[in-house]
Amino acid sequence: TRQIERKPDWLKIKLATGDNYKELKNMMRGKTLHTVCEEAKCPNIHECWANRTATFMILGDICTRACRFCAVTSGLPTELDLQEPERVAEAAEQMGLSHVVVTSVARDDLKDGGASIFAATIRALRERLPLASVEVLIPDFQGNEEALRTVLEAGPNILNHNVETVERLSDRVRAKAKYRRSIELLERSKRIAPNIPTKSSIMLGVGEEWDEILQTMDDLRAVDCNIMTIGQYLQPSVNHLPVMQYYTPEQFAELKEEGMKRGFSHVESGPLVRSSYHAHDQVKSAQRS
Ligand code: SF4
Ligand code: SF4
Repeated sequence: TRQIERKPDWLKIKLATGDNYKELKNMMRGKTLHTVCEEAKCPNIHECWANRTATFMILGDICTRACRFCAVTSGLPTELDLQEPERVAEAAEQMGLSHVVVTSVARDDLKDGGASIFAATIRALRERLPLASVEVLIPDFQGNEEALRTVLEAGPNILNHNVETVERLSDRVRAKAKYRRSIELLERSKRIAPNIPTKSSIMLGVGEEWDEILQTMDDLRAVDCNIMTIGQYLQPSVNHLPVMQYYTPEQFAELKEEGMKRGFSHVESGPLVRSSYHAHDQVKSAQRS
């Protein structure tokens, strides 16, 4: 297999500059908060912020893991910031968000992996923004069921945990995570809180086969995962995993169909789709199902 050099046209982004976007951008400036939207230079930032959706990264910006596709700095994390849940809620309120996604780096250095801060953030958001939906995109907490329970007890609208890639490539792509452990987390979530929709995501283009993508869908449906997102992997720097394949928009559309056939309530599938893309619509469809 050979790495591909040139990005196809459908990955070139047209920038919309809605008023909401500019307003939110100004608001975030000077705050000691991290949004994934800004830090990951997410291609959807204009659209998402204009639609009042944003993704906050809590528990610092240094990760104890070093997945080969991820642009987040790895190393020894900073001290826990107990005021962070309140600050996230305050920013979300000022931004007038209608859907808030909360995620974090993997904090394998903490006993509960940061679950209590996730829970506190959900509660703080509920307090300030009672009408907004809250989605948490959590790490695997190294398989700690108590930590998962702590997050679920705070009552998020969506519990999101990414498998990221197909089973065969998991070791290569995200060495410290395990595919089966991620599937198990989603299964446990349904057992602990059957009414909270679960969601997972994979990125394509790291060397997977078509059949393996379909198998991943089957594995997710086998634990009653409700929402799936599928996007194109883009290499953040030359030191990261190379792109092995660019999928066409037609292939993404076909995968959406395959997913819907399998019973997901919502499948978001497209070259620029990221885990939280159109997340607000997904809450609605999951609630309908
Ligand atoms: Fe932010 Fe997620 Fe939207 Fe990207 S897809 S801009 S990370 S909310
Ligand atoms: Fe990036 Fe998450 Fe992997 Fe950390 S655990 S390196 S934040 S993908």
